[in-house]
Amino acid sequence: MPESQQQRRKRNTVDLLGVTVDVVDTEGLCDQIVEFATQEKTRTVMYVNADCMLLADKDKKYRQVLNAADLVYADGVGVVYAAKLWGYSLPGRSTGADFMPDFCRTFAGKGLRLYFLGAPDGVAERAAERLLQQIPDLNIVGTHHGYFSPAQSDEIISRINSAKTDIVVVGFGAPYQEVWIHDNAHLFDAAVLWGVGGLFDFLSGKTNRGPQWLLDHGFEWLCRLLVEPRRLWRRYLLGNTKFVLFALWRRFQDFIKTIF
Ligand code: UDP
Repeated sequence: MPESQQQRRKRNTVDLLGVTVDVVDTEGLCDQIVEFATQEKTRTVMYVNADCMLLADKDKKYRQVLNAADLVYADGVGVVYAAKLWGYSLPGRSTGADFMPDFCRTFAGKGLRLYFLGAPDGVAERAAERLLQQIPDLNIVGTHHGYFSPAQSDEIISRINSAKTDIVVVGFGAPYQEVWIHDNAHLFDAAVLWGVGGLFDFLSGKTNRGPQWLLDHGFEWLCRLLVEPRRLWRRYLLGNTKFVLFALWRRFQDFIKTIF
């Protein structure tokens, strides 16, 4: 049996509003990325939050890209609660800014190499420096900003391939990073292409995440809104409300279908 089929058979997923989401906790996510990183095939890893789910409902290509990924994890309490409406139990959200230092310790222990791609010039580099202060044996083979034209993609991918990395961490924000990863996956030598959104902004200290107790109680969105209100009010105030109504409406429609 081809390796890809073996991989798919092992996946434990739920179909949430048309998007296949893995039932995976943060530890399982790390194990899976390590497993992918030690195999030949190029695998794609993506996340979804409430905003992503709304986008995926409207944007067919993005939805298809998510559904073609090798692993999609919940990064947002909204997705975890929405899953409950259908009786699914997702173990919780996995948020890069929380888990990345621990993941990097594991990657370093396994001798895996990383490349950081995304964010404004110098931010991924600062994120790498900060991680290296905590984990000196972490092998980050290169960094590059995320503001390049589609015409420059091939050159950047060649540069990443020359750096010989196992995991490419891509932080362009959704859905751009997912579509870019999907469309370019065949050009990469790396084993894992992993979309992480604004992670480099947080790891570098460019963006403040807010008090830990708010983050721990599902209010990451509120912290992000307070830090960048102009950019994010539409996404969080309108988006979160819309997502709750959208999920309830779709659940109601499913319920009606079971009656008739
Ligand atoms: N970004 C990028 N290239 C682009 C557009 C955005 O590298 O063409 C970066 C941006 O600087 C930021 C990240 O992508 O670091 C997007 O962060 P955001 O918080 O919007 O992403 P999310 O995690 O919410 O998807």
